[in-house]
Amino acid sequence: MEKVIEIKHLNKSFGNHEVLRDVNFTVNKGEVVCLIGSSGSGKSTLLRCINLLETPTGGEIIYNGENILNDKHDVRKYRTHLGMVFQQFNLFNNHNVLKNCMVGQLKVLKRSKEAAKQNALKYLKTVGMDKYVNAKPKQLSGGQKQRVAIARALAMDPEVMLFDEPTSALDPEMVGEVLKVMRQLADEGNTMLIVTHEMEFAREVSDRIVFMDKGVIVEEGPPEQVLVNPQQERTKEFLKRTL
Ligand code: ADP
Ligand code: MG
Repeated sequence: MEKVIEIKHLNKSFGNHEVLRDVNFTVNKGEVVCLIGSSGSGKSTLLRCINLLETPTGGEIIYNGENILNDKHDVRKYRTHLGMVFQQFNLFNNHNVLKNCMVGQLKVLKRSKEAAKQNALKYLKTVGMDKYVNAKPKQLSGGQKQRVAIARALAMDPEVMLFDEPTSALDPEMVGEVLKVMRQLADEGNTMLIVTHEMEFAREVSDRIVFMDKGVIVEEGPPEQVLVNPQQERTKEFLKRTL
């Protein structure tokens, strides 16, 4: 299997608070990996380290065979290969839907306006938001905003999509439409690393589940193992509380 992201002995501390401790795992091409664990276990910090919104205290992040923590590495270029979807959407409120999906392509990828527009429309269609190109974020529901945020990330043609609890800020009736889009992306063979509390979804779409607790990966494996037949006491405890 082709490794896209390989995390080796990753550590992250804030002051003397160790938030990630010797984290090791791999995301292979075309794989969907769900990261689960209690609040405060370090899931967001791990995603933020992967896209270098946080600087790891130690360890390696290998992207397509290169350690991106190496001084010589072009961080900006690396980031363009990762699509990030946040809990809070983070759309540009002053721009309409179409522009939201074009800005990064124009500014970061230096695409032409026409190319950026076509690509934006393609992915807005994928997420079912192509009818809303002229709407401003404040006119949209939470579920619609999150679908636009997903289209915006996809429009950069990233190699890996990172999701940090994309449905946690949504009203319950809107969770389904976002999960449906993510399921579709998973079925299309996209490489995805997803932090989620949606266990049913995780069980259905994941090739692998990674369970984190207190900054450590406690257990990982296929969903039928980790969710149905967990080996570790801490995993069993967590699942008892969430299922
Ligand atoms: P999760 O996403 O699993 O809920 P986080 O990665 O957000 O967990 O947080 C893990 C721990 O790191 C928490 O104890 C949190 O308070 C701490 N933490 C996260 N970001 C910072 C920061 N910027 N400064 C200090 N502590 C932080
Ligand atoms: Mg988090």
